[in-house]
Amino acid sequence: MQVLEKLTSADAIALEAKHGAHNYHPLPVVLSRGEGVYMWDVEGKKYYDFLSAYSAVNQGHCHPRIVAAMTKQAQTLTLTSRAFHNDMLGRFEAYATEFFGFDKLLPMNTGAEAVETAIKICRKWAYEKKGIPEEKANIVVCENNFHGRTTTIISFSNDEEARKNFGPYTPGFVKVAYDDLDALETVFKNTPHIAGFLVEPIQGEAGVYVPSAGYLKGAKALCEEYGILFIADEIQTGIARTGKILAVDHEEVKPDMLVLGKALSGGAYPVSAVLANDSIMEVIKPGQHGSTYGGNPVAAAVAMEALQVVLDEDLAGNAERLGAIFRDKLNTYIKTSSIAKLVRGKGLLNAIVINDDPESSTAWNICLALKENGLLAKPTHGNIIRFAPPLVMTEDQLMDCVSIITNTLRKFEK
Ligand SMILES: *Cc1c(COP(=O)(O)O)cnc(C)c1O
Repeated sequence: MQVLEKLTSADAIALEAKHGAHNYHPLPVVLSRGEGVYMWDVEGKKYYDFLSAYSAVNQGHCHPRIVAAMTKQAQTLTLTSRAFHNDMLGRFEAYATEFFGFDKLLPMNTGAEAVETAIKICRKWAYEKKGIPEEKANIVVCENNFHGRTTTIISFSNDEEARKNFGPYTPGFVKVAYDDLDALETVFKNTPHIAGFLVEPIQGEAGVYVPSAGYLKGAKALCEEYGILFIADEIQTGIARTGKILAVDHEEVKPDMLVLGKALSGGAYPVSAVLANDSIMEVIKPGQHGSTYGGNPVAAAVAMEALQVVLDEDLAGNAERLGAIFRDKLNTYIKTSSIAKLVRGKGLLNAIVINDDPESSTAWNICLALKENGLLAKPTHGNIIRFAPPLVMTEDQLMDCVSIITNTLRKFEK
């Protein structure tokens, strides 16, 4: 059978084109192996990974400790469902709640599921604790947010591609400009029955928009003033990516609900979670939420090891240090560049803005050239290229990557 034979990149791409739904537009590269900061395609060409599966692979590809934890658990017990207890879930919950400083954790699998979970908990809390009349709860979200792809989540997206013809949409969401405390206060003042404020501490998909200093702290203060839950979606920004364990740590903000995914497993397995204190989490009772795979023993073993690796290897410190070097080097280049407008970001979550029409394919063409030069990155909305390598990168490797990026950009200068 064809799928068992050795494939060329062209074969693999053709198989996907013929037999797979076309719901993504990947760069034309077919990867078959990863280790640390590197990936190899089926022809054996080696690349630096500068996307890290949207910040899932913070701990590096196939981290030996995470793979060992996964393998051991996979050979022991993989799934019981939550109809029964398993001997790993409680350990993971104890470990992760202490790690992040919350009373309780609710385990799910994907990021979007965890966001959905947070929305459900927030609404239930609003009716049962805050006293909002049934069916009336509103959740405030930000313009240009990205929280996933479910029907409810795309209901409050303003990405037309993500929304169009998927209606009718879920009501109960109110949009506010990102990084604008005055606008937030106006919405809080003028909208009845607000239960929660759902926010990305840095807007990743939108193009790595870092809000002004004090925004998150100010938003949290407003939430406290109005009795509104501050829900931080740290699926992309969390777990050392921005130079701290959480991006909200930069402003010493403690969310009422914390949503995690992606690097919670170091890219080995789908693991997501919502964390909150008892006064919030206790509104969820048996039968009111769940997932067959959520909290399975493999997920629990993998997530504990993935978090411990982040601490043991000081990945937050490394992200902070290398991120500063990266922006410094790119800023030096950009001073004399006509193709790159600016670099922005925090830690190792960065992006450059290409100096061209947002509708043009320049960012895409630059990513194709980067691929030829051995570095994989992907454009995000509107001629922006996100740069997010695994956090296990060394300074020498980073300097090598800076050379690849600047040499590639140089070819596009007008
Ligand atoms: C990736 C992402 C999600 C969705 O996670 P999935 O695992 O793809 O469902 C939600 N929020 C943010 C901020 C993300 O970056």
